[in-house]
Amino acid sequence: MLNIVLFGPPGCGKGTQAKFLEEKYSTPQISTGDLFRFNLKNETELGKLAQSYMDKGQLVPDEVTTNMLSDHLDKHPNDYGYIFDGYPRTTAQAQKLDEILAEKYNKEVTITVALVVEDEVLVKRLLERGKTSGRADDVDENIIRSRITEYYEKTAVVAEHFKAQGKWVEIDGIGTIEEITQKLFAAIDHAQAK
Ligand code: AMP
Repeated sequence: MLNIVLFGPPGCGKGTQAKFLEEKYSTPQISTGDLFRFNLKNETELGKLAQSYMDKGQLVPDEVTTNMLSDHLDKHPNDYGYIFDGYPRTTAQAQKLDEILAEKYNKEVTITVALVVEDEVLVKRLLERGKTSGRADDVDENIIRSRITEYYEKTAVVAEHFKAQGKWVEIDGIGTIEEITQKLFAAIDHAQAK
């Protein structure tokens, strides 16, 4: 089982790269952002709760997010593993992910690959994406900047959790999509071979 955490600030390219990893490793992407947006679209109670945070560019509370992820895993069993895109985003979530993988499958995170992109490039990319993504949080620059602030205040520290486990690799997220994909493949293959 290959469990990859795709890590990095909003707009770093996680979603784009997840598609290539899915294909190469036969591991489905799980994007907690996509799961929230699905609930929002279907006007579920979870969607309504999540929207109040998403609209402000803030993180949804840990327990709500983790329960949603755990339910999704139960409903989509996969022996090959998963690509976690946008989860974990806090140290509490990182601890929960370790627990969930241990309890459900007796497995661990294989590697966390972090895409590094500077802030002003992120803002530009997200505003560009907002023209077609249909995401309210990609259109307003203030919300985009709040999301980046949340990343630095709550998410960046998660690096320490995975570094302590020797499961952290940083990859330059600037370049062509293909170049970055190749770097990700190399890092994941290396971690898998260990
Ligand atoms: P994303 O699609 O990953 O950019 O996520 C969009 C929004 O969903 C975020 O700004 C948060 O409000 C919420 N969200 C997604 N994943 C998480 C998570 N792991 N923890 C808390 N909130 C999340």
